[in-house]
Amino acid sequence: MAENLWTTDPREALRAHPGFTLASMDRRATPGWGGDKAQGKAFMDSRASLLSELQERLFAEGRVGGKRSVLVVVQGLDTAGKGGMVRHVMGYVDPQGVSLASFGVPTEEERQHHYLWRIENKLPTPGRIGVFDRSHYEDVLVVRVDELIEESVWSERYDEINEWEKQLVESGTTILKFALMVSHEEQGIRLMERLDRPDKRWKYSTGDLDTRAKWHAFQEAYQAVFDRTSTEHAPWYVLPADRKWFSRLALTEILTRTLVEMEIGWPSVRWSPEVQRRNLAKSMSTASLVESYEDTPAVVTEAMEETLEVRRDSADLLDADPDASEQRIAARRAEWLTDLEETLAHKRELLAARDDAPALTADIPGIGSKTKKAAKSKKSKKGKKKSKK
Ligand code: ADP
Repeated sequence: MAENLWTTDPREALRAHPGFTLASMDRRATPGWGGDKAQGKAFMDSRASLLSELQERLFAEGRVGGKRSVLVVVQGLDTAGKGGMVRHVMGYVDPQGVSLASFGVPTEEERQHHYLWRIENKLPTPGRIGVFDRSHYEDVLVVRVDELIEESVWSERYDEINEWEKQLVESGTTILKFALMVSHEEQGIRLMERLDRPDKRWKYSTGDLDTRAKWHAFQEAYQAVFDRTSTEHAPWYVLPADRKWFSRLALTEILTRTLVEMEIGWPSVRWSPEVQRRNLAKSMSTASLVESYEDTPAVVTEAMEETLEVRRDSADLLDADPDASEQRIAARRAEWLTDLEETLAHKRELLAARDDAPALTADIPGIGSKTKKAAKSKKSKKGKKKSKK
């Protein structure tokens, strides 16, 4: 198990608090993380299964009428690693649960509308994690630096954005804003690499040097963004980005902790599983019903262990009282096992009503031991799942 070497909650360590000054930020620093690169990567990978299950829960909640969603805004200058970051986050979760939107120079149609129009069109629907590669903040960044519109217009936008984001939060969207801040020197090195490598030249744009020349103006524009739009409801996290592994680790951890605190459970259903099971069984052969019966303990206990593991990881993250959380986990386990007993009893009853069914007893050999075996084999299986990602 990779070691958790966060010494401070990254949401605290990286948040743009009032008085934050970008100019004095060390872009090679790793605030809040007490380990090195290898440890950081290992720990980040160890979050994969938790993150993926939390995302699935959010998705499930959205399916049954939940209103919550998460919006991850990623901003940063060229070469800061936005694209890699976005791919990285998306790699951890089920593609159907995330929606990606990239915002470039507005199209003719987009220019006909209010600047938030194209953003609103791409907001995540309930249950989804939306990832924005650039965002409405371009409308106070590049627009300000390149003087694309008058100051009297863009200067009004900060308050407007705050108000708009507030409404978004009130309607159920959790907003996480990340600014990837690469140093001037590192940007130079990364741009040079793009020129040197034939396989990376496509990433280079001849306009990149013009943007680089406006480095200081962009820093000022970012500082203004942090000063004016790092709000309680939608804070900015400023990630030093000279070490890509750190910015990825930090974003992964902040996203994970945010989802954990949302306390997303599996939705309960409004219909009766017994009635549905009875009806489904009518369409099944006796042989497949027997097979399903015999598989039930392993299938259910494996799912149970996974769910309990998420609860345990979540409790660790929330610094919950370990005794109290173990008690809650034990209670949840008991609920699952009672449900399992009822399921097995019901399936035996369904089989008993059939003339061609083999004789089954409550303690047919294998069932009890299967339950334990499944619980034990869980760990190794999960490890496999993780390493695949
Ligand atoms: P990237 O550079 O992120 O790979 P693109 O090649 O699509 O993506 O370019 C994005 C460009 O669009 C950036 O130069 C950015 O400043 C610009 N842009 C994004 N939003 C706006 C906007 N609202 N107004 C003007 N330019 C914008």
